[in-house]
Amino acid sequence: MTWLADVPQMIASSRCPCRKRGETVIYANCCMPFHSGVSAAPTAVALMRSRYAAFALGNAAYLLATWHPTTRPHQLAFTPGQQWLLLRILNANSEVAAVTVEFTARSRIGSTIHTLHEISNFVQDGGRWFYVDGQIM
Ligand SMILES: [Zn+2]
Repeated sequence: MTWLADVPQMIASSRCPCRKRGETVIYANCCMPFHSGVSAAPTAVALMRSRYAAFALGNAAYLLATWHPTTRPHQLAFTPGQQWLLLRILNANSEVAAVTVEFTARSRIGSTIHTLHEISNFVQDGGRWFYVDGQIM
């Protein structure tokens, strides 16, 4: 199953949206394999990163596919003009099948900077990680 239609080479070889400026990890070696269905995010943090990148790239299909069926909305609307600027993973507990990931995600709408601070809940179900829900901090 693929949630990605055509990726321009320019995007594939650019820094992945989930990475900080200065990091050299390109999209093709980071979140693209998950978005394209080549592989599944191996950890909750990897899924968190790939979902942030999907927001940044406007990939609603991937966001819905990685949303746990029990909490998945029917559709997803992006805020027009919202540019995602920076993801910071603050905290994550790992090694268990249910994981919380605390993060901030900075975006810009017009000239206004927004910072989302959330603790997200993830579960592993059938060998894949899913986003369940989150608490805005
Ligand atoms: Zn990435």
